[in-house]
Amino acid sequence: MTTDAAPPTPTSTPTVAIIGGGASGTLTAINLLRRGASVTLFESRGEAGYGVAYSTTDGRHLLNVRANNMSGFPDDRDDLLDWAAEAGIELGPIDFLPRRDYARYLRDRLASAAEGGPGAFEIVGETVIDVEPVGAGFRVLTSDDEGHVADAVVLAYGNPPPQPLAGLPEAPWNLSDPWDVARISALPVDATVLVVGTGLTAVDTTVTLLDDAPDRRVIMVSRHGLVPNPHVDDQFTSWVTPIPDGPLTADGIASLVRDQIEHAARLGVDWRAVIDGLRGPTQSIWRRLPEPERRRFREVYAREWEVRRHRMAPRIAALLDAYRAEGRLEILGGGVLGSRVDGARNGTAQPVITLADGDREVTAVINCTGPSPDITRTDNPLLLALQKRGLIAPDPLRLGIDVTEDGHAIGADGSVVPNLLTVGPPCKGALYEATAIPEIRGQAASVAAHLTSGDGGSTSD
Ligand SMILES: Cc1cc2nc3c(=O)[nH]c(=O)nc-3n(C[C@H](O)[C@H](O)[C@H](O)COP(=O)(O)OP(=O)(O)OC[C@H]3O[C@@H](n4cnc5c(N)ncnc54)[C@H](O)[C@@H]3O)c2cc1C
Repeated sequence: MTTDAAPPTPTSTPTVAIIGGGASGTLTAINLLRRGASVTLFESRGEAGYGVAYSTTDGRHLLNVRANNMSGFPDDRDDLLDWAAEAGIELGPIDFLPRRDYARYLRDRLASAAEGGPGAFEIVGETVIDVEPVGAGFRVLTSDDEGHVADAVVLAYGNPPPQPLAGLPEAPWNLSDPWDVARISALPVDATVLVVGTGLTAVDTTVTLLDDAPDRRVIMVSRHGLVPNPHVDDQFTSWVTPIPDGPLTADGIASLVRDQIEHAARLGVDWRAVIDGLRGPTQSIWRRLPEPERRRFREVYAREWEVRRHRMAPRIAALLDAYRAEGRLEILGGGVLGSRVDGARNGTAQPVITLADGDREVTAVINCTGPSPDITRTDNPLLLALQKRGLIAPDPLRLGIDVTEDGHAIGADGSVVPNLLTVGPPCKGALYEATAIPEIRGQAASVAAHLTSGDGGSTSD
């Protein structure tokens, strides 16, 4: 739809433009189509359902959440298991599905919603560079055309790429994309690879590097050197932590969690049950913390929280243990302190990286430092344009963009922008727990319900 027509009138069957076709955009599209809306989904990759997380082609990269908590729909918690049965995939409730199969799930459900609904559906395989307010709606601009008019826009641009590694030159040995599995697999079979980052992406990259090549070595390094904890198979799941009324502080929450973990341990209950029981109230706890307390949480407690909250499948943890026991994997703290390239050896460049314990000669470096969510440091044309228009603003902690509890963008002047909503990781600053499917599916459903409620997409916040 390319037009200069007058602004559309919001109805209960609106036309919605979704920017980003990863899990967040795809789930929002499915919900909207099921409710009769028309959807144009803009996805630079050309295909929906993959995004960053589910585009891996390596079948050893597993979901880090069990199948029984990865349904795309809050009101149908068995949907992923049902899909797997339909697709002939053996998947139990506590299993961890390969991530590439999760993309198939999202794509299948999107195809059914597009076929079954009365609304029109289109995927535009282009990058959106601007969104211009037009009357009560918007014109969505890509570099290739004059614009697509919509009643409402959903920002689902997801996980922005990491910042380049400071102090390292651009070079063939400095790999910026940890999801380029083909390039990573093609590194020499006897390579020594520095993986910068020790989170779940670093873990996946290490498995890709080491599983097929017994003579490769990996050094994983981050400032803290903490790796995600593993899930355990027989986990008690219904631990409830009572959250006190009144003002909350970061230290107070930390000590509450410690007390609950000790209490649980005395009853023979694993700490994971306490962490998982806190997942539901996390958004409301975060919203109750004053800004200085949020900052303190990030500075003092976030690392410890993340490695307990974002866990890896037991099978992956067992692989890491085996690599370490074989002497093929080191996990270090202290970060990257410097680098140089020695040119003499056999006429080939030899990167030398300074770590806390000294210099290491490596074959390649892979940037697994994770998304860089600060929109004030972005070179993404869409985010620059939206900020210039005052339609979005960074949240105070620079974890994403400022949004209301129900996902409406808050503009630079502090007021809610009607009909401009956000789903997924960009909401992290406002909600903290916003980056994984168990939260995204709720947001996608409620944004779709809101936009099809017939009140023109206005907000009560
Ligand atoms: C490696 C990895 C593994 C994960 N594993 C799990 C897991 O097991 N379970 C879980 O619950 N969560 C997991 N997550 C969390 C993950 O954030 C969510 O599950 C979910 O994938 C987020 O999807 P998204 O669509 O918001 O973001 P993304 O996956 O980042 O997708 C955003 C999409 O938007 C597109 N886009 C961006 N800007 C534009 C533009 N201007 N124009 C057009 N298109 C644009 C991008 O091309 C991209 O495809 C994982 C995350 C990562 C990175």
